[in-house]
Amino acid sequence: MAIKNHRFEEFWYGTSSNLSRSVRIDPTLIVMHYTTGWSGAGARDWLMGRAGGTGNTGTSAHLVVDRDGTTWQIAPFNRRAWHAGPSHHGGLSGLNSHAVGIEILNPGYLKPLGPDLWVDGYGHRRTTAELEDYGGFLTAPHGRIGPGSFAWPLYTPEQLTVLRRITSALIDSYAITDIVSHEEIDTRGWKTDPGPAFPLETFRDLLGQADEGEEDAVWETTASRLNFRGEGRIGAELVDPPGQLLRGTRVKVLSRVPDWAFVEVLAVPEGAEAGGALGVTGWISTRYMLRIA
Ligand SMILES: [Zn+2]
Repeated sequence: MAIKNHRFEEFWYGTSSNLSRSVRIDPTLIVMHYTTGWSGAGARDWLMGRAGGTGNTGTSAHLVVDRDGTTWQIAPFNRRAWHAGPSHHGGLSGLNSHAVGIEILNPGYLKPLGPDLWVDGYGHRRTTAELEDYGGFLTAPHGRIGPGSFAWPLYTPEQLTVLRRITSALIDSYAITDIVSHEEIDTRGWKTDPGPAFPLETFRDLLGQADEGEEDAVWETTASRLNFRGEGRIGAELVDPPGQLLRGTRVKVLSRVPDWAFVEVLAVPEGAEAGGALGVTGWISTRYMLRIA
């Protein structure tokens, strides 16, 4: 995937009206975001501001990635876009001056309204069945939102595939030192994107620079019953027992490839029978794990 003159040649291009005038940047970070919405073209137009025919004068990004992998570039990578807000990472502040911002189409979290009913940040209601049709979701708590558990729609394979290609090309073209979530750089403590459904670590792995302290990290599984496989690929034979891991199973990551982690089971959820799971090793999808320590 070729970048020429700070643009991907293969993507649609239009310049957002919401860029710092004449400020040139040399990006060293990639910040991943979700759009909080259901329409990719709508997000693109919004982030282009006047140029997109919308009244938004405050935010932009460099790339917008739709559910089907369609990607629009709305700023050259050497222009300062407005996506990070008040932010800090690795000794740098005001990360718009240092980062490529990628907005990924995703509704963001939905709060529970009742049995099998959820509501997004704009008041749109979705049933569990509708969310499953949309591409599935995981449930996970989040301290910044409040007590309880929330629905986090999954990213599509098409999005993750194009994002991996984009990330690799950016690493090849710029002196990228880290890939971060908006949540972890936001100094106000408001942001939750791109959320626990986004496999950030697999993108960091593209740098050959996994998070320090990763060896001691403890993760919890977030799917109600997560397939526990003998190899890191869809359809690989299950490790039996236990076959599947119940939600809340604690694991340690021993190694990782894109989308898959080879883990050891440290503890099973309270009330569950261990079912021969303790100490067993196998592969799980990184979509369904949340780091807790
Ligand atoms: Zn964001």
